[in-house]
Amino acid sequence: MTTTTPPESQPFQAEVAELLNLMVHSVYSETDIFLRELISNASDACDKLRYEAISAPELIADGALPEIRIRPDKKANTLSVVDSGIGMDRQELIDNLGTIARSGTKSFLSRLTEAKDGTNLIGQFGVGFYAAFMVAERIVVTSRRAGSDQVFVWSSSGGSGFEIAQASDEDATRVTRGTEIVLHLKQDASKYLEGFEIERIVRAWSDNIQFPILLMPEEG
Ligand code: ADP
Ligand code: MG
Repeated sequence: MTTTTPPESQPFQAEVAELLNLMVHSVYSETDIFLRELISNASDACDKLRYEAISAPELIADGALPEIRIRPDKKANTLSVVDSGIGMDRQELIDNLGTIARSGTKSFLSRLTEAKDGTNLIGQFGVGFYAAFMVAERIVVTSRRAGSDQVFVWSSSGGSGFEIAQASDEDATRVTRGTEIVLHLKQDASKYLEGFEIERIVRAWSDNIQFPILLMPEEG
């Protein structure tokens, strides 16, 4: 039997809220880089799984290969980036997607307070996961840490905080290992649903990724 925890709202660390405010209201034009950031995180997650599996081979006993899937859905107006990497448990979702640890982002923020137009700094520093809020009005992250029987859902519309909840049975069945990131795209970001656009960005920015990147066809 699995234990269930009720859904919970949590505030972002102040620096995250500041960064998100910038992302949401960004007039920065190079929004394409959000995909590079998500693919880079997916690749890191596949690397971490490979590393952990050296001492814990049962983590990859299911035979699922490490890979990254990109799935546009025009009907739902969503773009998903899915990996079969290490995944995150509840606490990791809270810590990793609610605070800023990376030094690059910290120096970005300190520069930001000095800069007149912060949007110019986005491209210089790269702002990781949070860059997705340039193109998404809402983000839903569903994740299963490798080896875990529990799946958790992190969701946020930017603003001051996020929700964390246990996944429904349906979501838990879908996410067998790793992380699914669903971007509910802003009105003006629907170009990211076009296959040729996705391919162009992946070629331009994610050429160095060692794991397969698959562009999934639209369903239906
Ligand atoms: P960075 O990649 O520089 O650490 P990000 O903002 O891109 O910063 O991501 C923050 C953290 O969130 C990562 O360090 C990682 O721990 C976690 N994370 C993000 N995406 C994923 C993913 N797809 N799978 C597992 N962990 C992830
Ligand atoms: Mg990253």
